Amino acid sequence: MTNHKPRSPSTPHRPSQGNRDFRNRTKRDHKSPDDQKNNPRGAPQLHAGAATAPPCIVLKAGREKSLLRRHPWIFSGAIERVDGAPASGDTLPVRDASGIFLAWAAYNPASQITARVWSWREEEIIDADFFRRRIANAFEARRALLPSGEVGAGGEGASTVQNTGMRLIHAESDGLPGLIVDQYGDVLVMQVGSAGAERWRDTCADILQELCDPVCIYERSDSDSRGLEGLELRNGVLRGTLPENVEVVENGLRFKVDVATGQKTGFYLDQRNNRALTESLARDKDVLNCFCYTGGFSLYALRGGAKSVLSIDASGDALRIAEDNLSRNSLDATRAEWMEADVFQVLRKLRDQGRTFDLIILDPPKFAPTAAFAEKAARGYKDINLLGFKLLRPGGLLCTYSCSGGISEDLFQKIIAGAALDAGVDAQIIHYLHASADHPVRLSFPEGAYLKGLVLRLCA
Ligand code: SAH
Repeated sequence: MTNHKPRSPSTPHRPSQGNRDFRNRTKRDHKSPDDQKNNPRGAPQLHAGAATAPPCIVLKAGREKSLLRRHPWIFSGAIERVDGAPASGDTLPVRDASGIFLAWAAYNPASQITARVWSWREEEIIDADFFRRRIANAFEARRALLPSGEVGAGGEGASTVQNTGMRLIHAESDGLPGLIVDQYGDVLVMQVGSAGAERWRDTCADILQELCDPVCIYERSDSDSRGLEGLELRNGVLRGTLPENVEVVENGLRFKVDVATGQKTGFYLDQRNNRALTESLARDKDVLNCFCYTGGFSLYALRGGAKSVLSIDASGDALRIAEDNLSRNSLDATRAEWMEADVFQVLRKLRDQGRTFDLIILDPPKFAPTAAFAEKAARGYKDINLLGFKLLRPGGLLCTYSCSGGISEDLFQKIIAGAALDAGVDAQIIHYLHASADHPVRLSFPEGAYLKGLVLRLCA
């Protein structure tokens, strides 16, 4: 596969089967917003405007501010009325209370995020060419991110290629709300998380096929958040055939990627740089890697010369892949120990046994998908970090992460400070960490900064 190299711009594209923009829609084959009142998911209740008027979202007076700041989400509470009888996934103009155009957005009456903006330009037409431009822009930005040749497709000569994995499309931050595409060598994995992206799914798959020529585009639209959007879960091949063995090379290390049943799209590309940092810190250390998944941080620590690495995860499937990854990279298995267990319990046991470590990694799953879960999540983060501090030797390092969109960087640091205080230790922050550069954060969309991490050193 040629790595996300856009073909000549003059290449003709197939007509879109997702082109159901309201401007060329002739049939009203959908529920009226009133019908949505009976929605069992407790969908937002929107005020229907004139059913015969051209479809349009009209905001309440004064509720246009976030859109003017280019935030791409329109919450149900900001909407005065919805004119016409649009269907979920339709592209609608959004207007302020006085009728001034603000944006083109994809409509989803089933979601609290009732519309997601495609474009702020009134003259823009949301069609297959629009998606081609946005996808090509996302690829172009990534080409500029990494020195040429650093990311490749694998296959012949792959041993010299240091990285074959990349997040090619990062949803809102790439101007494509709800669409995520990860590349693992010559396989692409697509995640569709909004009604708008769902409408254009096949169009985007065609464009990706044409621009990247992968052997497979696999769809992993099976995350819980699809439920909040009123979308059914989907998991399967979209284009081509899924190879039996999908592998990603990351900084020269090889990892098996379970595209069909692994977590997220199969691998956590967002931690690439942070794993590399761990490698540089691990020499001669006794390392504890909590929530290890398929062994990402563990393998880097081993390659970095760790004395021992104890890795814990609740998923036996993930641990089996982790052990396989160890042998794929010919790393010394005698320095690695894998444990299938609940981290919350094991940390207590290790504390009671008086075990200590030089370097501890805590990379738990998302405790707070939204701010509404922040309080409960904060207790979880405090608990594991407090125990982590207690298990550290003097001068030891704690690499701690949160991938919760509902926990800000500031709050995360406060939680860690509280954990250190309660553990009776003092610590210094030596690194502030984020997702790798192929997961950019649009300035107008701070929610994109979901991954935050701190490396702390225990003070004497
Ligand atoms: N650090 C990993 C990604 C971690 S994802 C990497 O770099 O690839 C979070 C992991 O936490 C998942 O593998 C999940 O199986 C595991 N997990 C979730 N809850 C857990 C618990 N209570 N105890 C142990 N592992 C848990």
